[in-house]
Amino acid sequence: MQERIKKILLAAAGVGVLWMAGSQAAQWVEIRETIQEDVTVEEQGEEGDTDGQDSGKPGDALKRKADEKTEDPDGTGRKIALTFDDGPHPSFTEELLDGLKERGVKASFFVLGEHVQLHPDIVKRMKEEGHLIGNHTYSHMQLKKGNWDEYRQELIKTNEVIREVTGQETAYVRPPYGCWDTSFEEELNMFPVLWTVDSRDWCSKDAAGVAQKVAEETEEGDIILMHDYYASSVDAALSIVDSLQAEGYTFVTVEEILFD
Ligand SMILES: [Zn+2]
Repeated sequence: MQERIKKILLAAAGVGVLWMAGSQAAQWVEIRETIQEDVTVEEQGEEGDTDGQDSGKPGDALKRKADEKTEDPDGTGRKIALTFDDGPHPSFTEELLDGLKERGVKASFFVLGEHVQLHPDIVKRMKEEGHLIGNHTYSHMQLKKGNWDEYRQELIKTNEVIREVTGQETAYVRPPYGCWDTSFEEELNMFPVLWTVDSRDWCSKDAAGVAQKVAEETEEGDIILMHDYYASSVDAALSIVDSLQAEGYTFVTVEEILFD
């Protein structure tokens, strides 16, 4: 089974039926079906498609496409995504944007609504430089029993703030602490994006150590969780970019990882 798809499943554990307009929804449903079939096969201890022939299952086309990517001869398909939560920060985010620009890297920023209101120009710059901007709630609220309505309002308010600043809607949300209710997906047309590699950059100032750990763990198709809210995270992120670009990886937005 494709390692990448398995990891996305793990990231999406607990995510229920997704509703989105257009072809993205169909692709996501297909990914989910593929994952579910593969997990079933794996649990039974079977090998699956050992002869490379289609079994006629709905996910086969996607698996075939993913296998072709793995064989990718010139390395251009080895994509990974860097994601940054909690910003924008008044100085660290700009330093990070400078470093990403120098290296030709596109990343994904899951911003807090209250920070967007404090630093709208930084968010405008993210958009102008081709980064993806997603919702991380207004005040970093964790979804719990009893705050469902408040949480919903935080998502809506942050979507509005992002739209005011960038002129664009965002359909992507990174729920703080990964706590999520699938009913928001249909109601607000929002797509949850979790992660497959956790840098734990927030609990270490050792940028070199964080960078080394992430570079060792990362494989094609991974979504790396970081925060643009610490000086050491900026250093670690740029060092990760340098070492993984040298290995032939390309940094793309999460949208490209999930739907291309
Ligand atoms: Zn956060």
